[in-house]
Amino acid sequence: MAQTEGKIIIIVAPSGSGKSTLIQKIKDEFNKLEWSVSFTTRPQREGEVDGVAYNFIDKEEFESRRDKNEFLEWALVHQNYYGTSKIFVEEKLKQGINVLFDLDVQGVDSFKEYFGDKAKAIFIAPPSIDALKSRLLQRGTDDIEVINVRLENARKELLRKDDFDYCVVNDDIGRAHEELRSVILEIMES
Ligand code: ADP
Ligand code: 5GP
Repeated sequence: MAQTEGKIIIIVAPSGSGKSTLIQKIKDEFNKLEWSVSFTTRPQREGEVDGVAYNFIDKEEFESRRDKNEFLEWALVHQNYYGTSKIFVEEKLKQGINVLFDLDVQGVDSFKEYFGDKAKAIFIAPPSIDALKSRLLQRGTDDIEVINVRLENARKELLRKDDFDYCVVNDDIGRAHEELRSVILEIMES
């Protein structure tokens, strides 16, 4: 297991549960928390800045980086590749910097294998599958086929909601934000 100094805080949630909205609020208010920018082959959405939301790369580059062992973990999610940069994370943790991750359940399982209990995972649950569907439709960033794949994955991910260190239900955004903030403070102070 790697030696870590900084805290490893992972947010895991089905697509549409409000994770990005909550993460943005957390990024804005915690200056002692660094965001791990993943690599992905998913098309860039409007408003997403390359190198900030993700490092957007094509499949060939992803596979080449993967084969060179540059990822701490990688996964195929909703038919696109996503991976965490090994060098970025190891450097930050070594410097004692707390790092915030946004991973799918496969990524959390890999982190738990690699870092053990030092990796703390917070599951963000939607109040219901219906709420999830209407949030994805209302967000308007994905077409209906993509939304259906995401809903299918969400049903599976929700079966795992009690397997993580914390679970926050995003019913009311203000309340969920408060709860998430206090969980993160607890981890950072532990
Ligand atoms: P994710 O990153 O989990 O895919 P987003 O943060 O993009 O989800 O949220 C999906 C949509 O739901 C967005 O349009 C967002 O504004 C909206 N949303 C987020 N949280 C809530 C909430 N508590 N109640 C209602 N709508 C919400
Ligand atoms: P989105 O395309 O909506 O930004 O993210 C889709 C899914 O990919 C989310 O569940 C998100 O948590 C996951 N994800 C983002 N980055 C990574 C990563 O580096 N590794 C893994 N395993 N999953 C990731």
